[in-house]
Amino acid sequence: MTVESLQGEVRALAREREAVILAHNYQLPEVQDVADFVGDSLGLSRQAAQSEGRTIVFCGVHFMAETAKILSPDKTVLIPDLEAGCSLADSIDVDELLAWKARYPEAVVVSYVNTSAAIKAESDYCCTSGNVRAVIDSIPAEKEILFLPDLYLGLWAERVSGRKLHLWLGECHVHAGIRPGDIERVLAEEPGAELLVHPECGCASQAMAFAGEQTHILSTEGMLDFARSSRHDRFRVATEVGILHRLHGELPGKRFEPVNPNAVCRFMKMITLEKLRDSLREWQYEVTVEEEIAARARKAIERMVATG
Ligand code: SF4
Repeated sequence: MTVESLQGEVRALAREREAVILAHNYQLPEVQDVADFVGDSLGLSRQAAQSEGRTIVFCGVHFMAETAKILSPDKTVLIPDLEAGCSLADSIDVDELLAWKARYPEAVVVSYVNTSAAIKAESDYCCTSGNVRAVIDSIPAEKEILFLPDLYLGLWAERVSGRKLHLWLGECHVHAGIRPGDIERVLAEEPGAELLVHPECGCASQAMAFAGEQTHILSTEGMLDFARSSRHDRFRVATEVGILHRLHGELPGKRFEPVNPNAVCRFMKMITLEKLRDSLREWQYEVTVEEEIAARARKAIERMVATG
């Protein structure tokens, strides 16, 4: 079967089932192309909550589908492969967080959105890479902060906020693999290119040293907005390579190349068109979150949304 005929089958099933297909920026290009919306995890969860469809098929990893379910408790949320996890979200479990909190009972817990529902439920605030600074700035200066799970995002947050944080030593294996040497090589190879760096990257805190004229630390949605309004037309991109499909699709007159072409998330790539078709056809796999956990996790997400 060709990609086009599979995509036709997926669209027909989505219509028949009145389902909305959401795809993360890091999904395979052919999956992005068949989705109703493509975006980052929080943007997609907001789309899920706003959409009129009763069913959401979430093409992304498990914590993202959980977040969509938390924000849309009355909708059915399906994920095409239950094994699509996340090494960053898995770097902390609830027992570890409870033990950490016990050591700092007065501290405020700020969790990156890349965490399980159970971790969000034990957090005071969630944050994204786009609003981590606003969330930290909103917490009184005298309060200690436990920041989890991403070490590199935490280091970057320390630098932009000027606050000392307690950092969990988790990392995303994909972003951590983009090293300071990659940035130095790109700057030497293509001195005129604009460099767009995700703060989860292993190079992000070092990239801050070059930040300014040519180097920009941005969330994935921030990269799109920045490139759209930039007068430049050549960009090197330090994040998972799936974002390049969206950048090329939305900004065809500009050139984007990866800083590290091996930055590929195998969990994101587990969602294929065949699995998406089967998900719609067989109504699988439903993502559920216990209501008591969902209610507490929702509070942490809502505090983040209220902050900006
Ligand atoms: S790219 Fe990293 S943070 Fe994103 S889903 Fe994959 S492992 Fe998790």
